[in-house]
Amino acid sequence: MSKATPSVLIAGGGVIGIACAHYLHRAGYRVIVIDQGKIGAACSHGNCGYICPSHVLPLTEPAALRVAIKSLFQPDAPFRVKPTLDLKVWRWFWEFARRCRHQKMLETGSHLKALLDTSMSEYHRLVNKEGIRCEWRESGLLYVLRTIQGMRDFAKTDRLLTEVFGVQARRFEGAALPGLDPSLKAGLAGAFLYEDDAMLRPERLCASWREHLLDEGVDFLEDCRVLSVDRSKGHVLSLLTSKGPMQADHYVFATGAWSGELGDELGVSIPVQPGKGYSVTMARPHLCPKYPMLFPEHRVGMTPFDGGYRLGSMMEFVGFDHSIPERRIQQLRRSAEPYLLEPHTPQTRETWFGWRPMTWDSLPIIGRVPRLENAFLATGHNMLGLSLAPVTGKLIAAMIQGVSPCLDPTPLRPDRFH
Ligand SMILES: Cc1cc2nc3c(=O)[nH]c(=O)nc-3n(C[C@H](O)[C@H](O)[C@H](O)COP(=O)(O)OP(=O)(O)OC[C@H]3O[C@@H](n4cnc5c(N)ncnc54)[C@H](O)[C@@H]3O)c2cc1C
Repeated sequence: MSKATPSVLIAGGGVIGIACAHYLHRAGYRVIVIDQGKIGAACSHGNCGYICPSHVLPLTEPAALRVAIKSLFQPDAPFRVKPTLDLKVWRWFWEFARRCRHQKMLETGSHLKALLDTSMSEYHRLVNKEGIRCEWRESGLLYVLRTIQGMRDFAKTDRLLTEVFGVQARRFEGAALPGLDPSLKAGLAGAFLYEDDAMLRPERLCASWREHLLDEGVDFLEDCRVLSVDRSKGHVLSLLTSKGPMQADHYVFATGAWSGELGDELGVSIPVQPGKGYSVTMARPHLCPKYPMLFPEHRVGMTPFDGGYRLGSMMEFVGFDHSIPERRIQQLRRSAEPYLLEPHTPQTRETWFGWRPMTWDSLPIIGRVPRLENAFLATGHNMLGLSLAPVTGKLIAAMIQGVSPCLDPTPLRPDRFH
């Protein structure tokens, strides 16, 4: 890389690495993104595509432990933990459990709210002004409840969202649902429409954003894995990669679920565990839903794209397991049956899994690596990486430039786990 313009090497070409590349390029840096596989092909590929400021409540909430324990006795539960002797995994769950308290949930929620709102404004700009093509739709997100009890329980969550975070929804009783979206079955209990949420097609976003950046001179290098980090006197000097040594002025590690593996190399604890989820993408049903939907009682999401239709869910802590069990895919299909007149179609286009980068406090890790002047982490986005990508890129660019960031990044700092 030329010495005249300062350079940044970004390890990890998921949506977070791509977003960092965008904002750093805009800030005047020469940027190269390297990935051990293909750009945008990991967790950022087949997810549900919600850009959802309504998701301010973190996974670390008081009911999480009850759900986790119950799921141990239900073979088909969306949540699953594979028994392990790995002490890092035990520690992760212990720290996670310690945070499942009401007050902590509200505190984390307020940090997520600030991040989500900033990211949403950035998405508006990216889509409307920069012309990123990703099947963007300001459709809102419809939470559909099957039972009266489900409706009562969700109404409490909705009240909390409104009263504490100012997140508003329109409530619909069951009888109104077929009028709202004719794809919904009669007899459902009701729904809440979060009108400020949006949807996009994640694989299109990554492809279009990358193309855009390529045209503007950002470099992308695939099948290039970071093997080790050469550091001295508080600086990263170079990275040893599967394609040889690589150097830049600054380094960003946006390595998603794999980030924990780089902890020793960077001399910092990065407690990120892979949280595996699945999706199945099909041809659109004739009676395709108008709204993207979540079915909280079955913990399944449905997204109607222009040229496809996706069901996605599950959270498995099973390590880096590559399998896609057919029973999980069938389970996704079945989960939509209580809600939709045409819940699935026979033409499967893709079955997919992704490893979410899960932190034990439900917050991403964004900031300078302790004791390293020129290395930054942008990882741990849990279930919200797509929604939080633009704000992450914006924060990382500000940190590297040394200008004041768009919001206080203190709760996200990488040294909080010591
Ligand atoms: C079923 C499901 C549904 C979801 N739905 C949503 C949703 O609706 N909305 C939302 O906001 N989020 C959603 N998510 C979460 C979201 O997909 C993730 O948070 C996000 O994709 C994480 O992006 P990332 O760039 O950090 O990780 P990734 O996309 O996994 O990218 C990390 C990249 O780093 C590379 N890498 C790792 N190690 C190295 C190394 N040593 N050297 C070089 N490269 C390396 C990997 O190859 C990979 O390409 C969902 C996730 C799942 C599983």
